[in-house]
Amino acid sequence: MLMLTRQSRNVTIPWMGRAYMELLAKSLVDLGVNIQLPPRTTEKTVQLGVRNTAEMVCFPLKPTLGNFIEALDNGANTLLMYDSQGQCRLRQYWKIQEFTLRSLGYDFEMYNINFGNFLPVLQKLGGASYARIVRELFRYYARVKKVDEKKERWSRRKPNIGIIGEIFTCCDERINYGIENKIYKLGAKPVNTVTLSSFIRESFFRKIHWPTRDRKRYDKEAEKYFNGDLGGHGRENISHLLELVNNNIGGVIHLLPMSCMPETSIEPFVMAICRESNTPLLRISIDENTAEANLETRLETFVELIKMRR
Ligand code: SF4
Repeated sequence: MLMLTRQSRNVTIPWMGRAYMELLAKSLVDLGVNIQLPPRTTEKTVQLGVRNTAEMVCFPLKPTLGNFIEALDNGANTLLMYDSQGQCRLRQYWKIQEFTLRSLGYDFEMYNINFGNFLPVLQKLGGASYARIVRELFRYYARVKKVDEKKERWSRRKPNIGIIGEIFTCCDERINYGIENKIYKLGAKPVNTVTLSSFIRESFFRKIHWPTRDRKRYDKEAEKYFNGDLGGHGRENISHLLELVNNNIGGVIHLLPMSCMPETSIEPFVMAICRESNTPLLRISIDENTAEANLETRLETFVELIKMRR
C-alpha cells in the first residue's frame, strides 16, 4: 500500500492532443502538482493497451491504458483520468483501468477528475486553494481557446472540410494520424468542430456562457433526432453538422473510434443530413488495425473530389 506525500507524488494523465496536455501540465505545475506526462503515444503504447483490454471495447481505452502502463514504468505513482460523467463508456474507463492495472501488479493511487470533483482532487494533489484552482481553470481555458481558434476558423480561399466525431479521436493527432495536417497539405482547410474548448464551453460554461442564438437554434434542431441523452458528442455533432451544411461547407469528415456507441448511433442522421444537403461525406473509423496509407488514399480522393466540385 503506497503512502504518498505531496512531494513524493508523480502524477500522470493520459494524452489527448499534445498542445492541450502540455498546457494542462503547465497549469497543474502552477497549482503545485508534481506532474509527469507519459511518453508520447506510439504503436507500442497502443499495443500495450490492446493486449490488456477486451477486443471489442471502444478504441480510446486502449491507448489511454497504454499511456498509464508506460507512465507507471517510468515512475508515476498517481493516476489522473478524465471522466466525462456522461452516458457513454468514458465514465467507466477509470474503473476498468484501475482494475486492469492492479491485476497487472502495479501499485498506485487513482483519481477520476470531472467538473464535479476537480476542486477537492486538485487541492489534494497540489495544495492550492479553491480560488486559485478556479482562476487557473479560466486561464487554461483561455490558452486552449487560442489553440482552437485556428482549428475552428474557415478559410476564404481554400475549400473547407468540416470535422465532426468523437472528441478523443478528433483531438489527438497521434490517434487520428495528424489528419488536420494531412488536409492542409492537400490544399484544403480543416474546420474541426470537436475541440477541447468547445467541449468545456458546451458542458461546463454552458450555464454561465450562454450559447449564441445560432448555436441554440442548431441545438434545438439537433434535439429532434434524439430520444433524450445519447452521451459522447452525439447531439453536439448533429448540431455542428447542421451548422456546417447550412454554411455550405465543402465536405464533412466523420471521425470515430471503432465501436463508439454515440457515433455509430448518429451515423444514419449524419448520412441523411449530408445526402439532403448534397454535401460529400467521408467516414473514418479508427482502431489499432487502421493503416495510415489507406487513410491517406481515401483522404486524397475525398479532397480531390471537393476541389473538382468547386
Ligand atoms: S464517446 Fe465513444 S469512443 Fe469515446 S468513450 Fe464514449 S463510447 Fe467510447
